[in-house]
Amino acid sequence: MQTTPEEEQTATVVRFDELGLNETTLKALDKTGYSSPSPIQEALVPAALEGRDCLGNAPTGTGKTAAFLLPILERVDERERLPQALILAPTRELVDQIGREFGRLSFGRYTRAVGVVGGESIYQQQRLLQQGCQVVIATPGRLMDLMARRTIRLDKVKMVVLDEADQMLDVGFQPAVEAILEAIPEPRQTLLFSATMPTPLRKLSERYLKNPVDVRLIKDNEDATIPAIRQAYLMVEPDRKFELLVRLLEREQPERAIIFCRTKHGADRVGTLLRTHGLKADTMHGNLSQAQRNRVLHAFRMGRLKALVATDVVGRGIDVRGVTHVFNFDLPEDPAQYVHRIGRTGRMGDDGTAFSLVLPDQGKLLDQIERAISRELEGDRVEGIPSPPRPVHHRPQRGIYMGRRPGGRKPFPPRRGGGGHHNNNGGQGGHGHGHGGNSGGGGGFRGRRSTQGAGRP
Ligand code: AMP
Repeated sequence: MQTTPEEEQTATVVRFDELGLNETTLKALDKTGYSSPSPIQEALVPAALEGRDCLGNAPTGTGKTAAFLLPILERVDERERLPQALILAPTRELVDQIGREFGRLSFGRYTRAVGVVGGESIYQQQRLLQQGCQVVIATPGRLMDLMARRTIRLDKVKMVVLDEADQMLDVGFQPAVEAILEAIPEPRQTLLFSATMPTPLRKLSERYLKNPVDVRLIKDNEDATIPAIRQAYLMVEPDRKFELLVRLLEREQPERAIIFCRTKHGADRVGTLLRTHGLKADTMHGNLSQAQRNRVLHAFRMGRLKALVATDVVGRGIDVRGVTHVFNFDLPEDPAQYVHRIGRTGRMGDDGTAFSLVLPDQGKLLDQIERAISRELEGDRVEGIPSPPRPVHHRPQRGIYMGRRPGGRKPFPPRRGGGGHHNNNGGQGGHGHGHGGNSGGGGGFRGRRSTQGAGRP
């Protein structure tokens, strides 16, 4: 019997519990709602859990952050309060994004990460480091400052991640990166991620990576094109939404656009209104027969329609080259859906633009979407249409990242072996290291500061 490519794909889907991750991690993953590992996670996690050095070229949007955080979470000893994993990233935004993903994935653990970035109080960062953490996420410049002040200890670090290494070199961090790597004791595990491999980076990787597993993912992967798409949002009052869409279409003059609506009824309404404004638009949603859908899609593909108004169910299956614009007339309820939607444009390296219309009460959803794509959308507006302010939500105290624990806030577990030096190799292999969870009582406890955020805004 013949299988379709989709059937083949489902038949080979790997599950998180096949990657060698322990129960605590699987529970945290359960909470994130990620249903299965992304390709980079599937390839990288088992190798990294074995302690291998890895070289990956997966861009943002492919789940690479979790690919390196999951092995880190399994391999660090949460009872040891000195940094055991160091993640270097080129920008403070990226450090913050990694920290937030860390907060999600460390659910149920005592593991803490401290963000070390320029432009923020070094004293606060020193204080957080003193309080103890297992993971440091840093930009190279500020980390060098702390090293010069001798206020950070890196002698227990056994895992190093260089994220977006090409960008770090681009902004002149190469000497700092090298100095930092020199300061980390051997043996250590090094994971390097980079979208490109310029010669200086190749040399650096040859010098610092030992027999790395080469996880060169994706050239044609749809997600890989996402960073190239221009993505903007426009704040708007509900009663001005349609007017805004029309004005935006006039301004942008899209060659081919897909307009996403949340409901079939909404899609019909927008389709009709656009036609009354003289735009060659048609609607596609689940109420249409397959023959009708094919007809509409054919017209769109042939360029007879400028705009296709669609709901998610049918919209995500549309694979048409040359879609120059995606408009989220309604924001998707599920942030992951946003990625599917905008993946309709910018396909195979084409240029693409995505606009999202956001209502004043959808600020949180917009935050979630930005987190899901690990990048901030650009704010845009159209002359003459009022743009209400984007709501600012409370974010947790900057710089500290930790997971929520099922029983609420709990102090650190007791120090192991009375706080003496111990050569911690416990993470080797990483699997099934028993996780007591509740430390119950005993000495050496330290409570969490009440203002500390839980990693999830
Ligand atoms: P990254 O490539 O690490 O920037 O990840 C992009 C987004 O994908 C982040 O918001 C992650 O939370 C999310 N993500 C990571 N792994 C998975 C997965 N296995 N399934 C679904 N979403 C994921």
